[in-house]
Amino acid sequence: MFADLHLHTCFSDGTYSPAELAGHARQQGLRAIALTDHDTVEGCRETAQACFACDIEFIPGTELTAEHRGHEVHLLGLFIDPDNAVLLRKLAQFQQVRQQRIHEMVARLNALGIQLQSETVFALANCRSPGRPHVGRALVEQGFCASMDEAFDRFLKKNRPGWVPKHKMSALEAIELIHQADGIAAMAHPALNQSDEIIPELVAAGLDAIECFHSKHSPAAVEHYLSVAQKYRLGVTGGSDCHGMSKGRPLIGTVKLPCHFLADLKQKHAAQREQRSKEEIVHENTLPHAGCS
Ligand code: AMP
Ligand code: ZN
Ligand code: FE
Ligand code: FE
Repeated sequence: MFADLHLHTCFSDGTYSPAELAGHARQQGLRAIALTDHDTVEGCRETAQACFACDIEFIPGTELTAEHRGHEVHLLGLFIDPDNAVLLRKLAQFQQVRQQRIHEMVARLNALGIQLQSETVFALANCRSPGRPHVGRALVEQGFCASMDEAFDRFLKKNRPGWVPKHKMSALEAIELIHQADGIAAMAHPALNQSDEIIPELVAAGLDAIECFHSKHSPAAVEHYLSVAQKYRLGVTGGSDCHGMSKGRPLIGTVKLPCHFLADLKQKHAAQREQRSKEEIVHENTLPHAGCS
């Protein structure tokens, strides 16, 4: 019994629709999946329905790009409430930033003589949370690059001429945002960001879990982060980070999180909920009663 708790759809920079994603999950024999699109929860409703139809457990989530003391860190919010008003307001702001960044990246490409238009990228992205992969796909479709790899290597990677830095929220703020939306916060693909030194500070800020299993983690990285999880009493999560077809095959199914880790995450989530409701009761009891003079 396995789960994949890190997946993207066409509601951000993945290519699968929710129905396609659920279909692949079923083919791979997964019992549970989480949707973690970048800066959006818009795909959650449709993915939940698609999963329900093929008897797969669905966990609503998102992936937030944040930073802490100069380190980029991606935080997964798992079990979040996709209707949480504060979360939705914040995500709408991040999506605005993403859309503005597309205009800026296209302007940089135009300055290099590449006649790409923002409208082409937005039409191709067809979502509120566009990102660099959409610019990459547009460059390939319009014949400016032969492949996505070429698009990233020549233009879109950090410090390449088409790259525009992205405004990032603080990791502490991201953890708080996830918690207030009833989610648990997990550090995504820690081996890719090489920022072990900030883990103790994130734990102190309420980090709940760490993504030990990831398609780009070596066996040694998996072992290392399992020991980190144990040291800091963090939950263990894992996922493929599948964005659709990549180099001839999808990543979904390449990382299988044993379901006992998911059961532990659920326990953490339930404990956190209980703690929050206790805090709310205390808060209510300390408020002055209406009508008292
Ligand atoms: P953004 O959030 O707009 O900065 O885009 C980040 C996304 O770009 C990641 O989530 C990956 O899906 C994708 N990405 C990053 N590097 C590459 C690469 N070298 N080739 C293809 N996709 C990449
Ligand atoms: Zn992505
Ligand atoms: Fe990420
Ligand atoms: Fe991701």
